[in-house]
Amino acid sequence: MGPSPTLYHYRNPVTQEAVVSLLPPDHPEMVCLQAGEHDTETKFGILGILAAIFWFPLGVGLCILDRRVKCRRCGQVIEDGMCG
Ligand SMILES: [Zn+2]
Repeated sequence: MGPSPTLYHYRNPVTQEAVVSLLPPDHPEMVCLQAGEHDTETKFGILGILAAIFWFPLGVGLCILDRRVKCRRCGQVIEDGMCG
């Protein structure tokens, strides 16, 4: 029998939801959880960018559809592009 795994207790500052996790407080996902927000970064898919260039101005709409919002810290995809 090895030592039992350490459980960490967190509270989401936004939802006040209690979270029990095996991940330590310095884990990127837990940093986000404790901060109550993600360090978001918006990226446009290559299809959207090409569409915006070649079918301007209609392609700009496609560019927005191909948008992807990702967390820089924990890597969680917050918003996925519709054609991703
Ligand atoms: Zn995050």
